[in-house]
Order: sequence, then structure tokens, then C-alpha cells
Amino acid sequence: MQKVKIYDTTLRDGTQAEDFSISVEDKVRIAMKLDDLGIHYIEGGWPGSNPRDVGFFKEIQHYHLKNAQIAAFGATCHPTKTPETDHNLKAMLTAKTPVATIFGKSWTVHVRDALRTTLDRNLQLIKASLAYLRPQVKTLFYDAEHFFDGFRDDPEYALITLEKALEGGAECLILCDTNGGNLPRTIQEIISAVKERFPTVPFGIHVHNDSDLAVANSLVAVEMGAVQVQGTINGIGERCGNADLVSIVPNLCLKMGIPCMAPENLVKLRTVSRFVLELANVPSNKYQPFVGRSAFAHKGGVHISAVERNPRTYEHIDPVLVGNRRRVLVSDLSGRATIKLKAQDYGLPISKKDPVAMQVLEELKDLEHQGFQFEAAEASFELLINKAMGKSKRYFELVSFRVIDQKLCEDRAPVAEATIRVKVGGHIEHTAALGNGPVNALDNALRKALEKFYPELKEMELSDYKVRVLPGRDGTAARVRVLIESRDDNDHWGTVGVSHDIIEASWQALVDSINYKMYKAEK
Ligand SMILES: [Zn+2]
Repeated sequence: MQKVKIYDTTLRDGTQAEDFSISVEDKVRIAMKLDDLGIHYIEGGWPGSNPRDVGFFKEIQHYHLKNAQIAAFGATCHPTKTPETDHNLKAMLTAKTPVATIFGKSWTVHVRDALRTTLDRNLQLIKASLAYLRPQVKTLFYDAEHFFDGFRDDPEYALITLEKALEGGAECLILCDTNGGNLPRTIQEIISAVKERFPTVPFGIHVHNDSDLAVANSLVAVEMGAVQVQGTINGIGERCGNADLVSIVPNLCLKMGIPCMAPENLVKLRTVSRFVLELANVPSNKYQPFVGRSAFAHKGGVHISAVERNPRTYEHIDPVLVGNRRRVLVSDLSGRATIKLKAQDYGLPISKKDPVAMQVLEELKDLEHQGFQFEAAEASFELLINKAMGKSKRYFELVSFRVIDQKLCEDRAPVAEATIRVKVGGHIEHTAALGNGPVNALDNALRKALEKFYPELKEMELSDYKVRVLPGRDGTAARVRVLIESRDDNDHWGTVGVSHDIIEASWQALVDSINYKMYKAEK
């Protein structure tokens, strides 16, 4: 069976992405997650070009990795230097990694215009740089930069660069589509030519996503016999990104019969994907294949009733295998089957003929008519079902609240203050709090009043707040819908409120959010 090793370059190529920047500590945390995921090689950075990467290599030596080997990345030696005097190669050795990956030029255009040297000198540089590192590292890889573009311009020269890399001691030749412009058929044809010239040499693939083909091209290369696939988590990388390992790995494991990751690790894929985005503070893409929130979300009524009978009708894999889950989106288009599936989703036993299901459906129609939407507010929906089943619990009761927004000076921001009275058990709590806006002040006051009774509320925070004005007949009478997203250490949930009054709509969503947190803690 073909064995494929996964080589992650999130920490090197990934950090070249626009708006993606992480600290040394974050890099270490990501490396540990990748190791836990069962990634074979983790490229930690380019020590010769970046002092932050030097810090990472120093730090990671203090950690024990159970699966992965760390790789340092670097260029062939400078045309005016020898390998012994080249600063970049020296920095690679001081990184003290078991793996070194050297990239060299395969494309004559790059040799002349980027490296600004002769074609012959480039060949010498490739062989000499690799030969210099060979005795000093355990594993040595060669990245043939722009290999496919180079081959299209001058096939013979591109092949000779590979020959030089082999003479220098490279164990695996990684063919790169650095500009990401090649089509699957070209990748296939060029790999055939490489295999003809070097029939027994192991090769790998490194592609960028400029034509939206990085995943497809990587899979084509594996079909052609590649034993190493390079990519990044979520496809993060320069320009349009690298090949997305989060899609490549499940395609290899679940569809191509190439077990490059153990099933017990594959289920962590979604968590790792989110983890990397969280650390970089990049919003997640809900439509991301395999791990996105919508990847197994069903909305149309026909789809929902079919999925209920047999999930294969509208799902290409079982979402559980990659750590995702099926979601049934609530909308008035879909009928009772939705309620049932949704209820099952939450472990609530409801059958289609159940009077509770009927009641929820009626209530839902009414609420949606008012402007409520539960697709991003599953927590509010779950509370609604609980209420219909007579299972809901009141954790507190509002006696009254008042919000004041005071602007004291034209060029200063207003100050918001909220006072609130709530009843918990037999006790009335009366508090006040300031905020950077009326809703924030209200949130602060409510928590202040409740935290004494429910300390678990300290674990949660509001992570997003959205207001949408719903179309109405006249401007000021229009309703607003407020969506609040809350989170704690291991979960996040959405709640919704609708009113003519923005404070009231926010209050409803806020109360649902807090009730849900407490309900979750009890469950
Ligand atoms: Zn790259």
C-alpha cells in the first residue's frame, strides 16, 4: 500500500498569508496540536530569514513530540558564497532540527531574474548546498521551487536540477507549483516525465491555490505516486493560500484508501482547524468543506426528510469522522421532520405526531413571522423546545431595569449606565454597572447581579453582537433582530431577540444566552 506522509508548513508558508500573524508561543502551541494530530513533519520556519523563527526552534527543543519531526526551511547558498560561509545554511544548522528542507530554483526565468546568476552556477549551488547539509542532518528534503512552470519552459533544465539535488543527497524531491497556476492534467503529465527519468526516487508535492486547484492537484500527485504532501491547516498561505491539509487528509484517508492519519486523530481535525484560526484571530469560514459549521447543515425540507431516512442521501461522508456534526437548520420552509431531527440532535425525544412537536412548530411559525430566525441561534431554539416540553427552568426573574445614556460633552463619548433588579429564589438583588454602550452596561449589570448566585457565569463571555434592521413599513417602527454569540472554554452558542426596541431585543438575546449557559452547566 502507498504510504503518504503529511508535511505541514502552516508555521512557515502559512505565516506568509495576509492578516495572519502569530507569536513564538502560538507557534509552539500549534506545533504541539499538529503533533497530537499525527502530522509527520512540521516545518517550523526559515531560520535564515526571520529572527522569530530562530526563537521557535530554540523553544521547541524543550518539548517532547510523540509523532512529528520538526523541519527547518532554507534556500540554497548565495551565488557569491560557498556553503561553509553562507549565513542562511549556518542558521539552518543552528536550528538543530532532525529534518532540513532546502529549496532551489528549477525555472530558468527565476535563475536569471530572481537569483541573478548563471544556469550552471545554480546547478552547482543546489548540489553543494545539499551535500554540505547531508552529513549534519538526519533527513534531507529538496523543494524544487516553481518546478512545474520551470518544466514547461525548459524541461531538460528542470530535470537536471533534480539530478543535482539527488547527487547532493536529497532523500525526497518535492515538486512545487509555487505560483499555483497549473491544471491537474499538466501536473499529471509533468510527474509522468519525472517518473520516467527517476523511476525509483521518492517524490512529494507542494502546491499553492491560485487557481483553486491546490487540493485537487495534490491528490493527483498522490495518485501518481507522491509519498509526501505539503500543505497548511485551512490552506492558509501567501496570496490565495497553500493546499489545505484539512481537506487533503480526509480525502486521502476516507476516499483514496491511504491511511495517512489514524481514525482517532482524524476526529480531531475540526478542533485543530478552529484552534489555528482562533490563535491567529481569523474568523472561521462556515462553508469550509469537511470542518465548516455548514459543511453538514441541511436546510431544504426535502433534504431534511431524506437525511432523516438515510444521511447518505445528502452527505458525502459521516461528519463524525472528521469531528464535525450534522446540523438541521430551522426555517419555516421545512416541516415537522425538522423539529424531530433537531430534537434528536439535542437528545430530546420527540416524535412527529407528538403534540409537543406540533406546539413547537406553531410557535416557530409565529416567531419567524415576527422576525425571529434560529439558524444562528440554536441555543434559543433549544430553550424553546425545552419550554414546550415543560422542562424549562427559570434561574432568575426580572423585576425592572433602567438604562441611561448620557453625553456630557460634544467631543467625548457618551457614558452608559444600567441599574437592574432581579429576583433569585426569594432574594432581590439590586445592582448598577457602567458600560461602553447601553447594551454593554445592561450585560454588565445583569451579570453582576447574578454571578453571586451562579459563579459559572464568570466562565462565559459575549463573543459577537449583531443588529439587523428588519424591513418594516416605516423607518422608526421597523423591528430589529439582535443576534448574540457567547462562548466559554469548550463551547459557543447563539441566541436571538426581536423587538421594535433595540435594548429590548438585546435583553431577550442576553437572557437566553445566560439561561443557556446555566442549563448547559446543569446538563
Ligand atoms: Zn509555498
